[in-house]
Amino acid sequence: MVERMGAQPHPGTSTGRDVRELSDYDPFAPIAMRSRVPSTDPPNRMRLGPLEKLYLIWMVGGSCDGCTIAVAGATNPPVEHLLNGIVPGLPKLELIHTVVSVESGAEWIENLHMAERGELDAPFVITWEGSMFDETKSGDGFFMGLGDDPATGQPITSAEWMKRLAPKAAAVVAIGTCATWGGIPAAEGNITGSMAVMDFLGRDYRSAFGVPVVNVPGCSPIGDNFMETAAAVILFLQGLAPLPEFDELGRPAWLFGETVHRHCPRAGYYEEGVFAEEYGDKECLVELGCWGPVVQCNIAERGIVNGTGGCMNMGGICIGCTMPGFPDKFAPIYAASPGSFVSSSASKVVGGAIRRMRAITMEDKNMTTRWTEDGAPSGWARYKSEPGSAKKLFYKAYRARQRANKT
Ligand code: SF4
Repeated sequence: MVERMGAQPHPGTSTGRDVRELSDYDPFAPIAMRSRVPSTDPPNRMRLGPLEKLYLIWMVGGSCDGCTIAVAGATNPPVEHLLNGIVPGLPKLELIHTVVSVESGAEWIENLHMAERGELDAPFVITWEGSMFDETKSGDGFFMGLGDDPATGQPITSAEWMKRLAPKAAAVVAIGTCATWGGIPAAEGNITGSMAVMDFLGRDYRSAFGVPVVNVPGCSPIGDNFMETAAAVILFLQGLAPLPEFDELGRPAWLFGETVHRHCPRAGYYEEGVFAEEYGDKECLVELGCWGPVVQCNIAERGIVNGTGGCMNMGGICIGCTMPGFPDKFAPIYAASPGSFVSSSASKVVGGAIRRMRAITMEDKNMTTRWTEDGAPSGWARYKSEPGSAKKLFYKAYRARQRANKT
């Protein structure tokens, strides 16, 4: 916790001047000022909607910056395409980001002051990373400050900025589980009163364009989930598409409507009742603590970066990081859930029987009709005897039933 300071003079910029002396043409001016200068470059994009550009104000609360890193790795579309304004139909994004912006200190904060005063020359979207601190619990200090008030010299908290800017924003997008549900900073025992953006703004919150808080969870989230959702919301703001479908918690429904388990590459093992005993095994990880059957997330099919990687693709269990109940309701992490005992036991019985039947059918399908009688003449299989008469009878009956099927 940082102690509240006494009134300080408004700090100078990196050039040593007061920020109010900077002009739109000054290379050291805040992006919200510099971006007002008309470009002399030939236009390299097709403008399809009313918005030529949009400011993306990215602020953080209790966060590890993992969401920023995740979005930097997005590929669909890549963030640099949005920043260059080359995605058809989407306006150019001017990024005001707490970490990756070129300007810092007073110049950076001036962007927020301009947004609050209504001086931006285009609408702005807020992306919030990290949980919201309850500053009423911070006593004489504050949990997180972001610049200070030029009039008083007193720090302005991150939460205060959210309160000031959210009603004026075209949309508020919460990214990552800390921002969407509270996440690890809101885990049991925390002293900061950490909460979700939705908790902070309340259920009646609507942006200036009438949109409730949009939530893209994950710890860290899949970068492409955020980019795809942001692009869909911006298309709506452009008037080029309807608002896409969100579920009752504000998640993009097309991304979080399915469980991890349904698309997991190990789901076939689960169905056949075969389970990993230790990390590194290739089978289903449910007995090692995987929560995939009840977790809404698309990591298994989308991967983490550019279609590759992601939890169980790489041998890790699902710990439920996209869910509002994370982390408390998934603890202790890496212990099998009570429900998994019932489902995996049932799967061992039913799936085990089906697996054995499939093995017999597979053996038949690995033989040409000629080989069924005498066995395969493969030099690789010389020790494998031809099928016995019981199996031959089974194959015959199976094929007769198969041929009886009408198309
Ligand atoms: Fe389901 Fe997890 Fe097993 Fe994958 S590893 S099949 S998500 S229980």
